[in-house]
Amino acid sequence: MLKIHLRRAVKDWHRTYREARMVALALKSSDHPVLAHVVVTRRCNIACAYCNEFDDFSKPVPTEDLARRIDQLARLGTTIVTLTGGEPLLHPELDDVIRRVRARGMIAILVTNGYLLTIERIKRLNRAGLDRLQISVDNIQPDAVSKKSLKVLDLKLRWLAQFAEFQVSIHSVVGASYDRPEDALEIARRAHELGLVSTAGIVHDASGRIQPLSARHQSVLQEIESLSSSRFSFVRHNPWARNLVQGLPNQWHCTAGGRHLYICEDGLVHYCLAQRGHPGIPLSQYTLKDIERESERVKGCAPYCTIFCVQRVAWFDHLRTHPKQALAEFFPAAGAQNPTLPRPVQMLKALFMPRRAPSSGRFFRKAALRILKVD
Ligand code: SF4
Ligand code: SF4
Repeated sequence: MLKIHLRRAVKDWHRTYREARMVALALKSSDHPVLAHVVVTRRCNIACAYCNEFDDFSKPVPTEDLARRIDQLARLGTTIVTLTGGEPLLHPELDDVIRRVRARGMIAILVTNGYLLTIERIKRLNRAGLDRLQISVDNIQPDAVSKKSLKVLDLKLRWLAQFAEFQVSIHSVVGASYDRPEDALEIARRAHELGLVSTAGIVHDASGRIQPLSARHQSVLQEIESLSSSRFSFVRHNPWARNLVQGLPNQWHCTAGGRHLYICEDGLVHYCLAQRGHPGIPLSQYTLKDIERESERVKGCAPYCTIFCVQRVAWFDHLRTHPKQALAEFFPAAGAQNPTLPRPVQMLKALFMPRRAPSSGRFFRKAALRILKVD
């Protein structure tokens, strides 16, 4: 057990370093994708009523094709690859795919429904070098809408808490179980109890647009946010979500197709899972010009979009181009100049938005960028 804790601590440090480098690169320039979702199989072993991202017959994407796609993403300068599906654990050579992502210097994340996890499977994911695993848990008891239930998955969560050397985050969707919004809160509490990270999303329709949330749903979302202990958590600091739950649109520029890529089973680039078909260009032919053009393009679906991972990525560009405004929007209580900004944000500010720094400040900035290999 001591060995697992030690290995976990070492891997945590290494992942934190690589994540800091990812942020530094994202802030330094907009010429590369920050995050790519890659579908490794469309097949899933369960059938959630709200999902249109799966079938029960597709073959896994050939490993050689996935290897080529991962290499191309690395050539484009991508920093994070999230392997998704369908259910990615159904891919027989998933460990090799994860190894390929890591060998190309990118952060490897896996999204799973968790059904196929065993202690041995978790240990294999450790050995493959997985950085983070995300499980969505929709309700406490399985129902007609979703079988991703705490009752079914609790044992898997306990195994993960005990044996995973990668970070585990439990994602609950407020509104997934419309009559029982409190389920999402109970799931988040269970995640905290087990020492796992918890995140919350809001249920959306097939186009990525939010479903209306009742006052009861809104207060559950707030309670989940308050559970997060991180001072720099997008669960806590998410003005987009706060607006959307009140039915208000957001003003932001979506950079999907440039800073975020969704690679479908056929190897085509899409903005996100909700906007398949745009731009629909094969990844093998994707270039910097495509990244620049699609990053610039205004998307009509942005005001009511609930795809928070794309918004997080877009925030880096907003922070680089309009630092004061970006900080004030995210941390309104603190204000852009306020020293009570979360420490990681203060560090980013010092690194990338220095104001006539004294020589000691310049030295710190240069040294930090060199450590992150961003100079
Ligand atoms: S587990 Fe995931 S991929 Fe499978 S049906 Fe449910 S939401 Fe869709
Ligand atoms: S705004 Fe961007 S991320 Fe959101 S649905 Fe539209 S294309 Fe997808």
